[in-house]
Amino acid sequence: MSETPTPEKTATHFVHKIIEQDQAAGKHDGRVHTRFPPEPNGYLHIGHAKSICLNFGTAEKYSGKCNLRFDDTNPEAEDVEYVDSIRDDVRWLGFDWDDREFFASDYFDQLYEWAEKLIQDGKAYVDSSSLEDIRAGRAGWDKAGQESPYRNRTPEENLDLFRRMKAGEFQDGEHVLRAKIDMNSPNMNLRDPIMYRIRHAHHHRTGDKWCIYPIYDWTHGQSDSIEGITHSICTLEFENHRPLYDWYIEQLGIHHPQQIEFARLNLTYTVMSKRKLLELVKGGLVSGWDDPRMPTIRGIRRRGYTPEAMRAFCDEIGVTKYNSLTDLAVLENAVRADLNKRCERRMAVLNPLKVVITNYPDDKSEMLQAVNNPEDESAGSREIPFSRVLYIEQDDFMENPPKKFFRLGPGREVRLRYAFFIKCEEVIKNDDGEITEIHCTYDPETRGGNAPDGRKVKATLHWVSAAHAVDAEVRLYDHLFEIENPADVPEGKDWKDFLNPNSLVKVTGAKLEPSLKELGIGERVQFERLGYFCVDKDTKPENLVYNRTVTLKDTWAKAKKKR
Ligand code: ATP
Ligand code: MG
Repeated sequence: MSETPTPEKTATHFVHKIIEQDQAAGKHDGRVHTRFPPEPNGYLHIGHAKSICLNFGTAEKYSGKCNLRFDDTNPEAEDVEYVDSIRDDVRWLGFDWDDREFFASDYFDQLYEWAEKLIQDGKAYVDSSSLEDIRAGRAGWDKAGQESPYRNRTPEENLDLFRRMKAGEFQDGEHVLRAKIDMNSPNMNLRDPIMYRIRHAHHHRTGDKWCIYPIYDWTHGQSDSIEGITHSICTLEFENHRPLYDWYIEQLGIHHPQQIEFARLNLTYTVMSKRKLLELVKGGLVSGWDDPRMPTIRGIRRRGYTPEAMRAFCDEIGVTKYNSLTDLAVLENAVRADLNKRCERRMAVLNPLKVVITNYPDDKSEMLQAVNNPEDESAGSREIPFSRVLYIEQDDFMENPPKKFFRLGPGREVRLRYAFFIKCEEVIKNDDGEITEIHCTYDPETRGGNAPDGRKVKATLHWVSAAHAVDAEVRLYDHLFEIENPADVPEGKDWKDFLNPNSLVKVTGAKLEPSLKELGIGERVQFERLGYFCVDKDTKPENLVYNRTVTLKDTWAKAKKKR
């Protein structure tokens, strides 16, 4: 018997519970309309992805709408470069805002009109104090504030000054417009917050039309209201801005969206603030916004993460009211689970050790069948060349293997994946005593990887044929920071002092099976036993570059246990 689930049963977190209660109560006529409101002053990061998934996902789930709105109130920090990248990254995550793309700057005229209304109602005034004096007057939450000497200007005087501010008669900083609320409120946001400041600056959309710009707090709530937003979802730090947003909306008597705050996403071993990310980029500490070590959407895209994995991750971590630090391993597990299903397997050797199969003819080579993806039969199989000289991983051979090492060593037999059993007969060294190659014999009876006599081997190694291999540079990534929480460093230290010097290791001279030359930029694949990789955009015809997206297992957790 199938039953349509009641709304109460479908909500998995408190934001959706609120929405379902509102719908049940007929609030906003049952409408759900959200928005994702980035400021175009940097590239989006994984934290934004959480907000995007929540806002767009909520609209999807409740058959509502979600707008993309650029909160572009700060001309000095903003740029079209960021607008373009934000659009592109939201689309990449798999969301669409149809024709509902808005800019807070489109509301500047309306906001200006409303500011005049507040002035006329005696609820806003022009303050000609310096910013320092304004700050000092607001004091601290536990101290009484000091009213500005300009607080009791008449509405007429305020209106005249405000119009002249707009007309460009004053220099930056000469006056500000403040809301007249309560200089003794325990909530600092209500101590006559600034609404407008003078900035003779060029705006990426309004050009030179304005020389006064609305403060974010005076813009955000009204923008939501103009758009008919029902649920204005934002991060916890805006909780004590809510009374201010409510105050503005009430004074103006306009549509009142409901603000709901949730905890922002923080991840271990990285930073998640645009300001800090910009500092890394500007300081040349990473190669750019799309450096694969960056927690930006650009970075993880280049690293090879998929939008599906990001969305699964956001679902998994859920939505709460408590700030916490999410283990990066949770994200990496989501990426692995996703790539495991979709990636074909290939063989690649990062640190090659030459193996000569002494009983294999010099002039011969043969093709062997290899399965493309054991998780997905429809991926089929491919042929890989085998010949007399091969490469295996240096790590897979030890001249004096300890007890627990089951891979290749003198006199030992192992399986080469999809090929034959080989046995190590001789170790060849140079004059310095370094191993240069090993000589093995193969058993032609074991073609395909099994012995007809039923004998077993303890290890299966990946390999490539030397004559057929393609060369590549492979970039291995580790945590960007050495410490779990670089947002919280000991006093006197700079967070940048904790960057991990080994976060990028470039392996040159890797040897790949021939088919790996055919992949296009961004295409993903599993290198057997080594992890998931994708072709980097730095790839040139003469220099193939692969990024390691993620290891096959959480090797970091293993390393931690050992310590
Ligand atoms: P940052 O702190 O990185 O500078 P921001 O909050 O200033 O970010 P905005 O462009 O204002 O960046 O963010 C757009 C939306 O994304 C906002 O609604 C914000 O609350 C949300 N957001 C930003 N960072 C996170 C995060 N780490 N987790 C969840 N949501 C976030
Ligand atoms: Mg912000």
